[in-house]
Amino acid sequence: MKEEIGILEGRQHQVFEKKSGEEQQFDIACDKTSLSGSVSQRACVFCGSRVVLYPVADAIHIVHGPIGCAAYTWDIRGAVSSGPELHRLSFSTDLQEMDVIYGGEKKLYRSLIELIDQYKPNAAFIYSTCIIGLIGDDIDAVCRKVAQEKGIPVMPVHSEGFKGTKKDGYKAACSALMKLIGTGSTEGISKCSINILGEFNLAGEAWIIREYYEKMGIEVVATMTGDGRIDAIRRSHGVSLNVVQCSGSMTSLAKEMEEKYGIPYIRVSYFGFEDMSKSLYDVAALFPERPEIMEKAREIVRDEIRKYYPEMQKFKGALSGKKAAIYVGGAFKTFSLIKALRTIGMSVVLAGSQTGNKDDYLRLKEMCDEGTVIVDDSNPVELSKFVLEKEADLLIGGVKERPIAFKLGVGFCDHNHERKIPLAGFVGMYNFAKEVYESVMSPVWQFAPRKGGLA
Ligand code: SF4
Repeated sequence: MKEEIGILEGRQHQVFEKKSGEEQQFDIACDKTSLSGSVSQRACVFCGSRVVLYPVADAIHIVHGPIGCAAYTWDIRGAVSSGPELHRLSFSTDLQEMDVIYGGEKKLYRSLIELIDQYKPNAAFIYSTCIIGLIGDDIDAVCRKVAQEKGIPVMPVHSEGFKGTKKDGYKAACSALMKLIGTGSTEGISKCSINILGEFNLAGEAWIIREYYEKMGIEVVATMTGDGRIDAIRRSHGVSLNVVQCSGSMTSLAKEMEEKYGIPYIRVSYFGFEDMSKSLYDVAALFPERPEIMEKAREIVRDEIRKYYPEMQKFKGALSGKKAAIYVGGAFKTFSLIKALRTIGMSVVLAGSQTGNKDDYLRLKEMCDEGTVIVDDSNPVELSKFVLEKEADLLIGGVKERPIAFKLGVGFCDHNHERKIPLAGFVGMYNFAKEVYESVMSPVWQFAPRKGGLA
């Protein structure tokens, strides 16, 4: 007899299954704190801000708090740099009991001075953790004092772990970036210029995207934050357009830049042939006075698809009819993943995210096939339940979902920030299809206890 896995009381409203037939009421609950005891896959506010700012490579990043917070986020992304690598070091004030009693401001000040003298960074980011929220250190005052003494920007990041969801961490990171934007010269920036927002240069992805735009004749001023540089961020208010990829983390920054500097923004995705092509065409369409930009975009799309199409057909032949479950951080990613999986013949039986909002889930419902489960802020037990019940052959997620897939005996594809293979751009879609193929079709599944022995 099959074991039935239940859903915790209080979680039912965050799970929705698309049914066939009559009009279904769509009332999924989201944008709320996690249920106690649910063992959410989400990270804390501090972690949210850390992942956004981490790739700024010529700044020092100091975690003001106990050592565990720094260890938890040490070298947290596979974000690579073409130059300095200060981002890969993890500094912490390592607060102890006496600091908690008497305050940690002096320790923070001493740490900053020592690190700035030793590493000569172009800026510093200071992250507040839970304990700082409790003891009330005035990190703004310390940052102001050090900035004045050392002559570099020192930005407080108000990311106390307990004060909300990971999304609040994204906002705290964007507020820190806003303090830098507008402080550099915009001289010499072309009229056909953009910033790439929400691209973190995992395994060199930002370089792939940047090259496409530059081939089209567009100047890329700043990439936020992949392969990020302080000077580029400071002059990024001189562009004509912000192109936002990871909408969950960077839309608030794009909106603030629109309000303050009048820079419009568009949302794009660099994942999958369809969305990658659209992101080039959409940007080109916003520079109608230069028709050669659109011409070049068409040429890039044509050449790239021609290069990868035959191999993709081979993967599709093997994977047609296989089923995928998706559980990622931001919901925007799932839209592209569904389209990309369809191009290699796979259907999606579970689509979920840690931080999606109502509009995201509504769009997901429209895109998904009947029978697909849509889930917000899930936990390992629920994910196991859906993977088993829907007989998925593949789970797409991050480092926390990987053991779930392998324990259940199904293939896995890492689509999160730890990965070492680029999945953006046309070459990225090829890499994705290859990885899915190798995992789903691996001979190891003949020997592994398929479905964890439950089916
Ligand atoms: S929840 Fe608090 S203590 Fe834990 S890692 Fe986040 S900031 Fe640090």
